[in-house]
Formats: sequence, C-alpha cells, structure tokens
Amino acid sequence: MIHQNIKRVLDSIGETALKCGRNPEEIKLVAVSKTFGPDKIIEAYDCGLRDFGENKAQELRDKAAQIDRQVNWHFIGGLQSNKVKYVAGVASLIHSVESLKIAEEIADRAEKLGIIQNILLEVKTSDEATKGGIESKEEVFEVAGFCRERKSLNLTGLMTMAPFVDDTEVIRKSFAKLREVKEELNRSGFNLSELSMGMTGDYDIAIEEGATILRIGTAIFGGR
Ligand SMILES: *Cc1c(COP(=O)(O)O)cnc(C)c1O
Repeated sequence: MIHQNIKRVLDSIGETALKCGRNPEEIKLVAVSKTFGPDKIIEAYDCGLRDFGENKAQELRDKAAQIDRQVNWHFIGGLQSNKVKYVAGVASLIHSVESLKIAEEIADRAEKLGIIQNILLEVKTSDEATKGGIESKEEVFEVAGFCRERKSLNLTGLMTMAPFVDDTEVIRKSFAKLREVKEELNRSGFNLSELSMGMTGDYDIAIEEGATILRIGTAIFGGR
C-alpha cells in the first residue's frame, strides 16, 4: 500500500509542478513518518524515498539509531532547548527553528560536535493560535542575522504550516507570505533557497506558491 501511495503522491507532485511551469526535480518530498515504526520507514525507503520527517526529538533519536539505512532525517516539530542534543547532528535539516534562543542552542551544540547544522526558520503565516513559528518580520530578520554570524549554522530557507481551513485562498495567502518573507530577506543580502511548506491536504497549493520541500505524512503512510 505504501508503494502505491508513494507512486500516487510523486505522480501528483510531478503533474502539479509541470502544470505551473516548474521542474518537479526541484521539489523534495519529505515523508513524515511520526508515530510509524521503523518497518514502515524501511518499506518507504525501499520504494526509493530517502528523506523522512519526525516531530518529536526522542522519537527522531530512537528511530535514527534503529534504522540502519542512509536516511536523511528532517526535524519538523517544536523544539525545546533541553532536547536540541537529540536532534542536532542527527537531523540533516531542522525545519522548526522559531526563536533566537533555540538557534543559539543549536549553534552551540553543532559547534561542540564540530559540524555545520542545516536549519530553516519556522515562520507563523496565519492567525491560527495553535501554529508555531516566528510571528514578526523583525524577529525573522533578527534570528536570520544571528544565524549568519554563527559558523556552525547554515540557514537555507524558511518553513511554515498553513492554517487548517477549507478556504484555499486563505491557505494560498499563508504560503505566498512565506515566499515574500524569503524574497525580502534575499533582497537584503541573504541567500535563501528553500521553502518548506505543504502537507497532505494542501501540497498542490504549496507547489503553486513555490515550495521546494513538501512534508507529507498521511498520503504516504495512512492515517495516524
Ligand atoms: C505531521 C506533520 C506534517 C504532515 O502532515 P500530513 O497531513 O500527515 O501530511 C507536516 N508538517 C508538520 C510540521 C507536521 O507535524
């Protein structure tokens, strides 16, 4: 079943990309495997997927230790300072940096490990109270500026979650806002390329609005 799901998702990503004049190869699929066991991850890996996303620090650490494959792990969940140690150096990309404090913590940890940690800043692009992310543009600029100063951090882009609503124009606005913040940062001297946005319910809109990384769980692994 996972095999068919992956094929369906990849076909649909390709179709949407071509329809809006984009190259499907510039869009990376991260399979969100949270709550699913190593067996399912290996099944998806054997279908050709290499990028997997987790939203809990210990769950990421445990699965990364259990799975003996060359997986690119992505951390996509809320991160507390005391859990940075489980994620830094394990995740190839941390999507959910949402404060200066967490950026500092990751920078210190990466420095200690002697690595350069790839990160994204999570930006709040909707009014939905339950969504995380940096709220003001000023703060995004501040944290991005900090990341540029730290050699152990490599800031490559931004991440967001659209609100859970039926109105596709509201969802589109949220994704467009992330793209605009990225463009504004780049106009002031940053060099960001990644936009991590789009989940099972809204990834077609995300592709149309410029997503370079999709985080898809349910459409691949089924309901949680
Ligand atoms: C769970 C999760 C996803 C994937 O959600 P689906 O609707 O199952 O595709 C994407 N991003 C984040 C941050 C998540 O926590």
